[in-house]
Amino acid sequence: MNKSKKKQICLKDELWKIDTEEKPRLIGSECEACGEIYFPKKEKNWCVHCQREALKEIELSREGKIVSYSVVMQQPGGGFYFGEVPYAYGQIDLPEKVRIITRFATDNFKKLRVGIMAELEIGKLYDDTEGSEVVTFEFRPKE
Ligand SMILES: [Zn+2]
Repeated sequence: MNKSKKKQICLKDELWKIDTEEKPRLIGSECEACGEIYFPKKEKNWCVHCQREALKEIELSREGKIVSYSVVMQQPGGGFYFGEVPYAYGQIDLPEKVRIITRFATDNFKKLRVGIMAELEIGKLYDDTEGSEVVTFEFRPKE
C-alpha cells in the first residue's frame, strides 16, 4: 500500500474497495441467473450474456495468473497516459474466470512470466497538476 501523505485520487471510482483485512479488492458484477462475472462492475443491472436483470456486486480475488504482458518503453502518444515509462501491462486471469487488463507493479520486468501468480496492489500512477497523487490498481508478480 502507498504510504505517501499526499492526497490520493483514484483513477476511476468504484474499481476497487479496501476489504476488512485492509487489502484492496477489485469490484465486479456477478449474474445470479447465469453466473457470468464482469470487471469493471456493470453500471446497469443487466447481464449482456443472458439478457436478465440479475447482477449483484462482488469482490474479486486478490490474486490471479498472468496470461500475457508487454513492456512499454516510450511514452504513449495521444495525451491519455501521464505515468512513468517504462512500465509493464498485460492480462490476469482471476479464479472467478474473468480476465483483467492491468498494469504490473514491478520495475524488474524479468520477473514477469506467463503462468505465474500476481497479487493486487494500489499504486501511484502520477502526480496531478494540483499536487495530488493519482492512484490505480496494479498486480505485483509473485516470486
Ligand atoms: Zn446472466
